[in-house]
Order: sequence, then C-alpha cells, then structure tokens
Amino acid sequence: MRQYIIAANWKMNKTLEEGQKLASEIINIVSDEVKSDAQVVICAPFIHLTAVKALIGSKKNIFLGAQNVSNKESGAYTGEVSAAQLKSVGVDFVIIGHSERREYFNESNEMLAEKVDLAIKHGIRPIFCCGESLAQREQGVHIDFIKSQLTESLFHLSEQDFLKTVIAYEPIWAIGTGVTATIEDIENVHNAIKERISKPLLYGGSVKVENVREICQIPNVDGALIGTASWKKEDFIKILENTKDL
Ligand code: PEP
Repeated sequence: MRQYIIAANWKMNKTLEEGQKLASEIINIVSDEVKSDAQVVICAPFIHLTAVKALIGSKKNIFLGAQNVSNKESGAYTGEVSAAQLKSVGVDFVIIGHSERREYFNESNEMLAEKVDLAIKHGIRPIFCCGESLAQREQGVHIDFIKSQLTESLFHLSEQDFLKTVIAYEPIWAIGTGVTATIEDIENVHNAIKERISKPLLYGGSVKVENVREICQIPNVDGALIGTASWKKEDFIKILENTKDL
C-alpha cells in the first residue's frame, strides 16, 4: 500500500475554541472510526499548536504542522516565531513557501531557503510549496518556473536533508478558487518534478471530497495539501474516508 499524506491548512481561521473542537473531532474520528491510511498533518495557526499537540498525544498517524516559520534563528524580530520555538511545542511539519506568503509577504526563494534550513536544523520537516500563476501557465513557462523555485530554495540541501522535505505542487490559480487543475495538468507537472526528485509530492488547489480520490490515485501524487475543504469536519472526514485503500 502507498504511504501518502493528507495535510490540512487551516490558514488564518478558527478561534482557539473552534480549533480545539475541529482538531479533537478529526483526531477522534481518525483513530476510532475512519482509521485513515494517510499520515494526517494538521497545519494550524500558531495559537493552536500547543492545544492541538495535546489532543494528538501519542497517536501515530497524526502530525502537527505550522504554517510559517521565521528565517531567523532567534532575537529581536518582533512578531516572528522561530523553528526552535515551533519544535519546543512539538511541531513535526511546517508549510514553507505557500503562494499566499510569497505574494502578500514578499517571501523570496532565497528567504525560503533560509526557512527550510532552519526547519531542518531543528528537526521539523518542511512542506515546501511551489506553483505557477495563470499567466505563467498560459505562456507555457510553468515547468521552468517551478523548477527554478525548487532549485533556488531546496537544491543546496545535502541528500540526507533533502529526504526530509515534502513538496506540494500548488498552482496559484487553483488555490481557494474552486478551480482544480485537470488530472492531465497535475500529471504533467508531477511527472516533471519527479524526474528530478523522488520526494513525497503532494497536490494542492481546490482538492475536495469529490475529487480527492481521483487526484491521489495519480501515480506521482503522494497525497494532498487541503485548504478550504479542511475547515469543515464533515468534509475533511469524508476526504480521509475517500482516500482509504488507495
Ligand atoms: C492551500 O491553501 O494550500 C490550498 C490548497 O487551498 P484550497 O484547498 O482552498 O485551494
């Protein structure tokens, strides 16, 4: 059976109370009823991390993820959260290079490389996001663009560190829009990435209950990074059910 990852990206949603409720529902159902085959990663806002960790406890197939990490080790960087701090509350994974952070917070490939280095140094596995805009796809430069994102932020890593990363292909035009890339679009990009990298490679971009199984059945897709459909317990549980026995 294939090992795959289903990662939930809550983004900037959920109060502490709402987050605890959603996390406990997911965790209980994963361990008691659904018995998901996936490694489930809950990428919660910083304020939830300690509470979600406590709810996860020692469960084997559920992991804690953060959505961002500082590119600085420590010090006078008001408002930032370091990799060491994330590790100290039990974070296993961190999303790095999400297109929303690249766009709204001007995160460059160089800065993302620094974040990747610090995450790995502190024992946290990066979920590194890459993906093109609609204009780049229409110009036919998307594969080169994605390869440059990977080259500039990941290719300096040693082989051993490289093995710790998970990559998520997330076409920007498919994120939060309800528009999913076609199976052929996903296949083409995943095959191109896998030519050079044999890493777990997730797809993200409007993955939902109805399409998750078909997407995860594509040979070079090793799971999904899910935004909107992970915010509702019913949808996320169905997603886990729909990806059993792949
Ligand atoms: C995301 O933000 O990583 C994402 C894939 O969002 P959505 O599922 O809402 O498109």
